[in-house]
Amino acid sequence: MSSENNENFGIPEGVERVLVVTAHPDDVDFGAGGTIATLTDAGISVTYCICTDGDAGGFDDATDRREIPAIRRAEQTAAAKVLGVTDVHFLGYKDGYLEPSHDVQRDIVRIMRQVKPQLVITQTPERNWERLPATHPDHMAAGEATTRALYPAVRNPYAYPELRNDEGLEAWTVSWLWLQGDTNPNHWLNVTDNFDRKIEAISCHVSQVSHIENLSEMVGDWQRMAAERAGLPQGQLAEGFRQVQLPG
Ligand SMILES: [Zn+2]
Repeated sequence: MSSENNENFGIPEGVERVLVVTAHPDDVDFGAGGTIATLTDAGISVTYCICTDGDAGGFDDATDRREIPAIRRAEQTAAAKVLGVTDVHFLGYKDGYLEPSHDVQRDIVRIMRQVKPQLVITQTPERNWERLPATHPDHMAAGEATTRALYPAVRNPYAYPELRNDEGLEAWTVSWLWLQGDTNPNHWLNVTDNFDRKIEAISCHVSQVSHIENLSEMVGDWQRMAAERAGLPQGQLAEGFRQVQLPG
């Protein structure tokens, strides 16, 4: 039985700013909604960077596909607000086509240098064979591009030199990386008290989830399983991450 008073739980010391990089609108809410609420409640400033507009998502043929990017951006912005986040960047890449290209890496390095986070949360770049949808190819691409941006580009002043020369963005070193959707989580947040806000945030993604009848039950099951794996008492809910401490 684990105790929550050890290094496998909670927010690392010294974290004041957090950057979340995900592939699609709704990924952060499903994977880390309770965690984001916990961070902002603790006075930590959280910024989102959403790589695609989720324009291949949805379930409803009646919606004009050209309207989807604007709908999904608005839904993500509303969901962010529920969790105390107002700084949301959209990179505008095409859903289903995301690659860890240098354009994507440069865009992520730019936001990292602007935000100067101590902790970055992204999606695992490794395929989850137990739960394939968790590692949609775009998710792995977002995770891979973010990990490459973290080491070494964001800390190297000579990587993507145009960011420094043209935009005045100096190198920055991030201390912590949390990967959501990883098969080997080693770090958890107890999100029992923030579960309702997580569901409220997910529910903002009307174009994606309004047809799911047992949403709260489904997400609750994931969070119960994570709590069990974390060794928390029965009835608790958790979100789990693979935590990586980056070299100083
Ligand atoms: Zn996704």
